[in-house]
Amino acid sequence: MPTYYQCERCTACCRWPGQVRLNESEITAIAAYLDISEEVFIQTYTRLNANRSGLALKDHDDESCIFLEGEDCKIQPVKPNQCRAFPNLWNFPGFEKVCHAKPVQVSEETFRTLCTAPDT
Ligand code: SF4
Ligand code: SF4
Repeated sequence: MPTYYQCERCTACCRWPGQVRLNESEITAIAAYLDISEEVFIQTYTRLNANRSGLALKDHDDESCIFLEGEDCKIQPVKPNQCRAFPNLWNFPGFEKVCHAKPVQVSEETFRTLCTAPDT
């Protein structure tokens, strides 16, 4: 039985150093959600990613994500796949020490459903 990690919205993953990479469809969706042009979105909220092969979200001075406002993600309904997929579809050794997601045993089908739910 797979383990599904239920996000507790602690926002730790929005605060640690790193980069949130963006693909073209995410840029389109986030710009539309913010009601700004893609050009303005790119200029205002993105930077080159570390290997200069694409774009990533900018950070605040404390290295938290530019879209973290208090305890909330300002673009929650259209947040990038990289955010949505952590920690169930990707993670790193020892992530449980810094992520407060609650492990729940679920069926394969439920796991797939939960991982593709729009509000994860
Ligand atoms: S886009 Fe939202 S969920 Fe993703 S790191 Fe930024 S604040 Fe967190
Ligand atoms: S995925 Fe983990 S670290 Fe990120 S907000 Fe959810 S519980 Fe916190």
